[in-house]
Amino acid sequence: MNYDIIIIGAGPAGLTAAIYASRARLKGLVIEQKPMGGGQVLNTYEVDNYPGLPGIDGFELGTKLKEHAQQAGAVFEEGDVCEITESSSGYVVKTNQQEYSAYGVLIAAGAAHRLLDVEGEKELTGHGVSYCATCDGAFFRDKIAAVIGGGDVALEDAIFLSRICKKVFVIHRRDQFRGAQVLQERLLSLENVEILWDTIVEKIAGEDLVEELHIANVKTGEKKKLSVQGVFIAVGIQPESQAFRQLAEMDSAGYFIAGEDCRTSRRGIYAAGDIRTKQLRQIITAAADGANAITSFQEDFLQILDK
Ligand code: NAP
Repeated sequence: MNYDIIIIGAGPAGLTAAIYASRARLKGLVIEQKPMGGGQVLNTYEVDNYPGLPGIDGFELGTKLKEHAQQAGAVFEEGDVCEITESSSGYVVKTNQQEYSAYGVLIAAGAAHRLLDVEGEKELTGHGVSYCATCDGAFFRDKIAAVIGGGDVALEDAIFLSRICKKVFVIHRRDQFRGAQVLQERLLSLENVEILWDTIVEKIAGEDLVEELHIANVKTGEKKKLSVQGVFIAVGIQPESQAFRQLAEMDSAGYFIAGEDCRTSRRGIYAAGDIRTKQLRQIITAAADGANAITSFQEDFLQILDK
């Protein structure tokens, strides 16, 4: 066996698991897609709810998490996991680069943005349509942008963009936001932000670049065209679990069914962070999962690990 445990993903869940595994003197490997580490937090402008680090820059927090795991002795390899198969004593994890074996596998591959699924979205992605305000916001300095969605990400993106853009529309399909109250209050106090409640986007239009949004009010039925140059889509996330289908039980949305102990339906396979069924998907709950998953693994493999 190459390793005791292989951790797939280097977001807060995977990195915390790596820290706990190293401290437990387990032979662990973290497989990460990109060398940066940090996961979705890297694209967050400001994280205001991670205890002890109020207002920390998301990039800085992601980097610190990775540094902490490295200092603890975690080993990292880059690769895209394509297959996990069971062997006589554990699992074989195949990436596009290599093959590794371990007694247990912790899947902490996280989640990615969901598509809005409207006309023009695919064609204009990268030409005014974006899913990451902190990555692409600077292209829209003094321009007009629209953020679509009403969750934490949409509110954070709109607040961030209000500092760069001349005007920001927030387009939400209901008359109430889902995102944190503190973000709602901050957003509502901004003069260059206009909220379009009960509104959906029917089409993103433009020749080579985004020019306008075709929107409709779901209550009145009124349709309008809105002149914008940037469209930031923040309509939720979906689990990055396609490569792991059949491995263990998932819900209909593709999240691994696992409790706080992070044990999935298959012995030796654990799921931590945004990829598992849970009530609250935040950095702190992902980090907690990483710690719990390693503890579960140690309990389950006590006899083998003691040898
Ligand atoms: P989210 O909380 O699921 O919110 C998605 C938003 O998009 C909702 O307002 C939803 O509307 C809207 N929406 C979904 N499908 C839509 C569609 N087809 N058309 C129009 N609107 C649509 O997702 P998120 O904001 O990406 O956040 C993901 C997770 O990360 C959440 O659990 C969030 O709490 C967490 N997060 C935490 C922090 C933090 O702790 N600092 C920061 C960012 C994100 P409805 O409201 O009508 O459903």
